[in-house]
Amino acid sequence: MTSVTASHAADLVAALLFILSLAGLSQHRTSRAGVVYGIAGMALALVATVVVAAQSITAGVVALIVLAMAFGAAIGLWRARRVEMTQMPELIAVLHSFVGLAAVLVGWNSYLEVESHGTAQTRIGADLLGIHHAEVFIGVFIGAVTFTGSIVAFLKLSARIDSRPLILPGKNALNLGALGAFAVLTAWFTISPNLSLMIAVTVLALALGWHLVASIGGGDMPVVVSMLNSYSGWAAAAAGFLLDNNLLIVTGALVGSSGAYLSYIMCKAMNRSFISVIAGGFGIAAPAGHEEEQGEHREVRAVEAAELLAQARSVIITPGYGMAVAQAQHPVAELTRQLRERGVEVRFGVHPVAGRLPGHMNVLLAEAKVPYDIVLEMDEINDDLADTSVVLVIGANDTVNPAATEDPGSPIAGMPVLRVWEAEQVIVFKRSMASGYAGVQNPLFFRENSSMLFGDAKQSVEEILHALSTDSRRGAAPAARQATVAGH
Ligand code: NDP
Repeated sequence: MTSVTASHAADLVAALLFILSLAGLSQHRTSRAGVVYGIAGMALALVATVVVAAQSITAGVVALIVLAMAFGAAIGLWRARRVEMTQMPELIAVLHSFVGLAAVLVGWNSYLEVESHGTAQTRIGADLLGIHHAEVFIGVFIGAVTFTGSIVAFLKLSARIDSRPLILPGKNALNLGALGAFAVLTAWFTISPNLSLMIAVTVLALALGWHLVASIGGGDMPVVVSMLNSYSGWAAAAAGFLLDNNLLIVTGALVGSSGAYLSYIMCKAMNRSFISVIAGGFGIAAPAGHEEEQGEHREVRAVEAAELLAQARSVIITPGYGMAVAQAQHPVAELTRQLRERGVEVRFGVHPVAGRLPGHMNVLLAEAKVPYDIVLEMDEINDDLADTSVVLVIGANDTVNPAATEDPGSPIAGMPVLRVWEAEQVIVFKRSMASGYAGVQNPLFFRENSSMLFGDAKQSVEEILHALSTDSRRGAAPAARQATVAGH
């Protein structure tokens, strides 16, 4: 078997491993196997690429490639070991930006190669030159949009810039104008390629990527992250065409289409228009005056919260980003265990975009060994909230904001939320009256039945646990408590 045939076989096996990886990652049970398939596919793809490349390049260049790979792998391992779960989305955004940048560099390299050598020393036949020009242009465009879009997403997710949407005058016209200009430039470049058009499309796409993501508000960031994931796939596929690398085309298409489908599912879950979000918040009104406080709020101390919980018949916990930041999942799991021992019904209500990445809360709760059967999705639990004694909102904010259902002018209007305010009592665990990720003030904090328990969520839950254990030691037997609970 020649090395080229062997490499085609390796490509095929790697592509199958990537498909198995995607299938595995779609379920908790099989996700570990999915990761292993993905690693195996990528390792095979890298080895096959280097082995084939080694046939036509000098040993020195091969050594450079291996050195670059070792250097990249070392940085990747170092980052992966250090990254906190709450920083995962920003890490993913940075990685997407690398894919975008790589596609831009591949496009530019391919253009300069043809310019300096003509088609004689490349794989491109003279009759396919027009197609090659279009590939270069489209690849650079998608790559540059992905590059700057991902950098803005990284800056927003890491709170280095404000997560609120940038509203430039005529923002929709700017986006549509940029797309129109891209179409005209592509036709022009295909007929008469030149350096100034390459520079123009690169600058245009860099600006468009920046503007598209900057125009989207914090509440819609989950969709943006999956959308950039999709763009990075298409950018990789475009680079695959230019490098004549079938595996890159297949992998890019897998990432591109699965990312697009995930964006679509997330838009449906958040009651957002897919077109509106991918068009940089097309049709979404500018937020105005949603940050001011809306009345008096009440405060509660951990000891009082413990008393309320000990008397409760049923408790629902709605965790959010703050629980992840505080790493409060273990004391929360312990509180759940103790309340259940006292006969209180405890369940969790998990919003689809709670935290900073899909499934964030489920992973934390599973890590703390909270039983799966009491962790329910928003749609499964929303109707039960009205019949609940106490809701503990632990570090959640946007996902429990009544403005989403009651204020049509709110930037998060229409987004489905956990209707925690329907419960008898709501205790909100957070450190201040600050707004959530979407930058929208939360009227829940000022409701009659809400109380704020200020402080770090982990510390607050530990204080409640301490108060409960002191309470038990004083002789309040669980049986006696249950009588109170039943009569509540
Ligand atoms: P939010 O981000 O809306 O609010 C989190 C709250 O936690 C803050 O109000 C903060 O208040 C509080 N908090 C922070 N640290 C602590 C701490 N140590 N102890 C106690 N409280 C703390 O959370 P949600 O989970 O409700 O909503 C997620 C938001 O993120 C949504 O807008 C969603 O669209 C967006 N998003 C989600 C992604 C996903 O895929 N899940 C990805 C990207 C964005 P304070 O500072 O006062 O303590």
